[in-house]
Amino acid sequence: MDDRYWSPTVKRLTPYVPGEQPRIPDLVKLNTNEHPHGPSPRVLAAIQSELDERLRLYPDPEATALRHELAQRHGVELDNVFVGNGSDEVLAFAFQALLGHSGPVWFPDVTYSFYPVYCTLYGLPHETVPLTDDFRLPTDAFLPQQGRAAGGIVFANPNAPTGIALELTEVERIVAGNPQCVVLVDEAYVDFGAQSAIPLVKHYPNLLVVQTFSKSRALAGLRVGYAIGQAPLIEALRRVKDSFNSYPLDRLAQVGAIAALQDEAHFEAMRLDVIATRASLARGLEALGFEVLPSQANFVFARHRERSGAELAQSLRERKVLVRRFDQPRIADFLRITVGTREQCARLLEALAEILGG
Ligand SMILES: *Cc1c(COP(=O)(O)O)cnc(C)c1O
Repeated sequence: MDDRYWSPTVKRLTPYVPGEQPRIPDLVKLNTNEHPHGPSPRVLAAIQSELDERLRLYPDPEATALRHELAQRHGVELDNVFVGNGSDEVLAFAFQALLGHSGPVWFPDVTYSFYPVYCTLYGLPHETVPLTDDFRLPTDAFLPQQGRAAGGIVFANPNAPTGIALELTEVERIVAGNPQCVVLVDEAYVDFGAQSAIPLVKHYPNLLVVQTFSKSRALAGLRVGYAIGQAPLIEALRRVKDSFNSYPLDRLAQVGAIAALQDEAHFEAMRLDVIATRASLARGLEALGFEVLPSQANFVFARHRERSGAELAQSLRERKVLVRRFDQPRIADFLRITVGTREQCARLLEALAEILGG
């Protein structure tokens, strides 16, 4: 590729590779952790009633009504809430505004693969901390030691792609033990069974918690994410936003997200359905000879005791079942399987039984 017009930053980038979104009819798509059921009908109604000539007007740049709704839901104030175009954008702003300027950013060796990408984009130093042999987060290794301290810490809870959650007391040890830097907890999957760190925000000026509407609210297509933290951290994010794009959330996204928060019954029912299906999916995989890590997310992370991950993923693909695999040290033999509908999970298990039997 002719890169003569590229900046040195662009030459250095290794972009994140999102899971595929192929258009294959009858595909069982269990590769990007989307919700198997649709969003609340109230979301669709709210978006429809916003669809008129008002689209010529810019949206509220501060998304005040949505932030208000989020503040209420989480028991915080308006100035503790930042919203962005998906939590990926919120994370990107947080890396630029708050992490890695006074020392390296620390994150687990096995985690959301976007974190190193942001570090490269912004030229931030970073170091990985190995998970334990059973893929748990080693809390002590995230505390300052022997004169070494982080200039920012980020981890997902539950972690991705393992699905394993960290106890809130352990999250608090990391936050309390690192007052010199911001600790960012990415709670993309928290609603599927982990404890949120949001109640700790009022006690710790260095804690930033990020959540999203993409997974538990079934709104990956709407692109809404948010951060909760003390006002100075939120103001730092706002400064980056207003130096980049004043209107990250369009009118439809703002009203749709508000409606999603107002339908607690739908949210609760769909969340519990995923949790119940996850348990039966894990049992089905174990019966086929898989080791399944204990998941508190809307996916499971599993490896077969005899067959390679690459081979299984390919054979599933040939049977129109899509799962995600990461070609990385330690986890190359694992499949990350989104919890789908019961029918989708049944089709996955049937396909695996056929592959393993043959
Ligand atoms: C899905 C995911 C996100 C990003 O979600 P958005 O759709 O950008 O809100 C962030 N972190 C983790 C760990 C995720 O899995």
